[in-house]
Amino acid sequence: MMEFELTEEQRMIRDLVRDFAHQEIAPRVEEDDRRGRLPMELVWKLGELGILGMVLPEEWGGGGSDYVSYVVAIEELARVSPALAVTLSVSCSVGALPIARAGTEAQKEKFLRPLAEGRMLGAFALTEPGAGSDVRAISTTARQEAGHYILDGTKIWVTNGTECGVMITMAVTGRQNGRKEISAFLVEPDSPGVNVRLMEGKLGLHSSSTAEVVFEEARIPRENLLGAEGKGLRVALGALEGGRVGIAAHAVGIAQACLDRAVDYARERHAFGRAIGQFEAIQTKLGEMAARVSASRLLTRRAAWMMDRGLGCPKEASMAKLYATETANFVAAEAIQIHGGYGFMEEFGLARFYRDVRVATIFEGTNEIQRMLIARSVLSSAARSPTCSRGS
Ligand SMILES: Cc1cc2nc3c(=O)[nH]c(=O)nc-3n(C[C@H](O)[C@H](O)[C@H](O)COP(=O)(O)OP(=O)(O)OC[C@H]3O[C@@H](n4cnc5c(N)ncnc54)[C@H](O)[C@@H]3O)c2cc1C
Repeated sequence: MMEFELTEEQRMIRDLVRDFAHQEIAPRVEEDDRRGRLPMELVWKLGELGILGMVLPEEWGGGGSDYVSYVVAIEELARVSPALAVTLSVSCSVGALPIARAGTEAQKEKFLRPLAEGRMLGAFALTEPGAGSDVRAISTTARQEAGHYILDGTKIWVTNGTECGVMITMAVTGRQNGRKEISAFLVEPDSPGVNVRLMEGKLGLHSSSTAEVVFEEARIPRENLLGAEGKGLRVALGALEGGRVGIAAHAVGIAQACLDRAVDYARERHAFGRAIGQFEAIQTKLGEMAARVSASRLLTRRAAWMMDRGLGCPKEASMAKLYATETANFVAAEAIQIHGGYGFMEEFGLARFYRDVRVATIFEGTNEIQRMLIARSVLSSAARSPTCSRGS
């Protein structure tokens, strides 16, 4: 049975993260955004609070929390700092879960334990200058040589890239029947031949680390192969479900923050002798914004709830990601509109959310790709359903 109320433990986690976000992050979030650097001291505090490794297994030092708690925590962080929420979401999901699922005992001891204990950040390096949605188009190669793999190629937009202790990196290790075989590697950024550079000039998420990583004859120990050779995409794509649910939660947090500000402003701002919230045009906006934020949260928590029960939910994760990220972009834009000219000014805080949310429809699989995945899923289940046969 699906519960709509949070449990006592989930409420405690929500309150813990909410208090931390208000007390420690909010006073400095605009300045961190201007500086364009990830505030690592706050990241480590989230580690000490047990939030950074909250869904990772307890036996490796993680919190062993459920995914509903995880999406609640990300939502609370994103309400104040979308950049920190992305840092956590990437580290915990695509940056660590593949190790928990496919890692050897030695790999778990070396990488999963510090990730789970909140002493290390994880990253995930799949995208390349010539390959994003089309993951099989990647051209980074890995060949074996004397107990090592030698990696050559370039990855871009690696979230946490400049601050991580490990990046799960996809590279081509061979070909079978003309198809590329892709493998996953646990790359330590200070390995010989690995060059990490901060990518500057983003539209938003200024205080999230985004890196270009160039591999030039990079030597990665053979024991850092994650999972079987040639099975890297299975390792990587298996983690994207959690990644997409995390981005959906991130979007819900941004949308809620913008809605809250819009409601406050609609009550306070007067025009033509009354609060602007009394105009039907503004009420229509607020009504739609509030309904869409709630629907986004429900879709996100449903996907998390399914993950907690071990129910595969690629379609539900894609639906949550698609709907919540489009809602958040809509709500951020409408909140600015309700603020009139003040919405356009940095000091009102909406400009940062408006910039930060733009990428949400692009990363962790663009929304065009999410629509395609959802459509494939409904088409294949319709084909299996007897009521949809041509004869019915
Ligand atoms: C801030 C930021 C952080 C990121 N973090 C990471 C990270 O940590 N790790 C990582 O590996 N990557 C990361 N990315 C990369 C991100 O996942 C990719 O940008 C995204 O997957 C899209 O790939 P692309 O940019 O190459 O666009 P393309 O794949 O070239 O797509 C261009 C356009 O074509 C559309 N399109 C492509 N194929 C189809 C199709 N079959 N049907 C319909 N439309 C299609 C797309 O939807 C898009 O609108 C990040 C990106 C950004 C901007």
